[in-house]
Amino acid sequence: MLPPYANEPYPDFTQPGPAAAMRTALDLVASQADRYYPLIIGGERITTDAAIVSANPVAPDRIVGRTGSATPELADRAVRCAAATYEEWRAVAPVVRARIILKAAAILRRRIYEFSAWLVVEVSKSWIEAYADAAEAVDFLELYAREMMRLAAPLPSTPSPGEENEVRYVPLGVGVVISPWNFPLAIMAGMTAAAAAAGNTVVVKPASQAPIVAAKFMEVLEEAGLPAGVVNYVPGPGSSVGDVLVDHPLTRFISFTGSREVGVRIHERAAKVHPCQKWLKRTILEMGGKDAIIVDETADIDAAAAGAVASAFGYQGQKCSACSRLIVVDEVHDALMERVLALAPRLTMGDPACAGIDLGAVVDPGAVRKIHEYIEIGRQEGDLVYQSGVPEGDGQFVPVTIIDNVAPDARIAQEEIFGPVLAVIRARDFDHALEIANGTDYGLTGALFSGIRARLERARADFHVGNLYLNRKCTGALVDVQPFGGFNMSGTDSKAGGRDYLQLFMQGKSVAEKL
Ligand code: NAP
Repeated sequence: MLPPYANEPYPDFTQPGPAAAMRTALDLVASQADRYYPLIIGGERITTDAAIVSANPVAPDRIVGRTGSATPELADRAVRCAAATYEEWRAVAPVVRARIILKAAAILRRRIYEFSAWLVVEVSKSWIEAYADAAEAVDFLELYAREMMRLAAPLPSTPSPGEENEVRYVPLGVGVVISPWNFPLAIMAGMTAAAAAAGNTVVVKPASQAPIVAAKFMEVLEEAGLPAGVVNYVPGPGSSVGDVLVDHPLTRFISFTGSREVGVRIHERAAKVHPCQKWLKRTILEMGGKDAIIVDETADIDAAAAGAVASAFGYQGQKCSACSRLIVVDEVHDALMERVLALAPRLTMGDPACAGIDLGAVVDPGAVRKIHEYIEIGRQEGDLVYQSGVPEGDGQFVPVTIIDNVAPDARIAQEEIFGPVLAVIRARDFDHALEIANGTDYGLTGALFSGIRARLERARADFHVGNLYLNRKCTGALVDVQPFGGFNMSGTDSKAGGRDYLQLFMQGKSVAEKL
């Protein structure tokens, strides 16, 4: 019998055991630098002329690894292979599919420090952020395997005399999984495992900045006994293979996490019915955010400041859930800012391979440019009240930046920056603060710090976000504790890590037999 689902615990890296394990894992990963990882289609390894080069953001001349780069022809081949494999995989008993995913979770858990180390070098996560990403991947696999076992049973339905009736979930078909670089293990593994556990076959196109972690995850799936062709590894430029995968008439659904721009494009293209396509495609889209923390005049100011700094700058602000707007009721503005400005300079920035570093580099030179552009825009739109230094060298570091007195409709208060830049917005009172918080196109996460019960209740009802936090930070959702996903332009309202997630990858079938 399976133990009940529980979240993977985090280690304490100040203790010698976990710290030593992490250092050993970083050595292992360094010893595997600059290896080549081919595409995997139907179990076949395919090398390509072009390669995707994954570099360490803190030292771009340190090559983490290289992968093949899919052409449109190879993307087409991967979808066809997934379609052929689907006919066998959908017939595998749900409990057997679930056991393979559970086995993958066990392997991932055994290699969790190694995967954390890959995340440190490939996308510049601090030790704890990297471990949290890897632990979340284990959690997704553990939860979705259990959910598949639960959903394998017929659904309750009302008996009808003279008939035997049955309602069951069946899989959809071929899914395209398109993942982002910021949680390149957890999100990629979660979308892939949910789809495969539900009986679908998948083409995985990882983000081009982080394809190595995904290649390592393929090792886990193979070792777990997942048949060839169920999950196909197809790194490649989204700009050239994305449309091929999305438009393909054999694609049944697209599971995407990434920017609003790409998500909207996928949504539009998936709506078109192509020749030989027999279904309306389903899209499961998780997109960006412009997340706010509200602090009112009754809040615990120390807790609010700590929550804001952690949410705004953790992982260099590169979380969809990151706080990018701090909305403060006038009365406590100065007191709150005094504490925020005392905490922000304590964050350490450097190579996160070293213990004790809080913030690493941002993902690529494009991100550096974009964040600096927004800092310049912010200087025009408000008062720059804090900017950190950055480590010397050619690492892709950007300064932690706080801009005060920003108008609610300013660009830096409306557009997703995806970097360590916090806009502080003043509000007259709580009602005004809530109006400002809801005043963007997004609706992903949000937090309210307040001591007034009526306001906490009002936020529950009217703070229009998929993940609301009261008197705590707005990042760090845990699988099956805070199922994650946003409203409005933050996505299609799905909840990753929730108990209704797997149904998104299935369809219900009702069978009635006259007795
Ligand atoms: P992105 O630029 O949209 O890329 C995401 C994925 O889409 C990548 O694999 C990318 O491939 C691919 N892609 C690019 N163009 C495509 C096209 N025309 N057709 C199909 N796929 C295409 O996003 P990102 O920079 O990786 O990730 C950051 C964004 O993700 C932020 O907006 C963040 O808020 C959001 N995010 C949301 C959640 C959530 O749960 N709501 C979670 C994490 C991140 P290439 O890399 O090859 O371009």
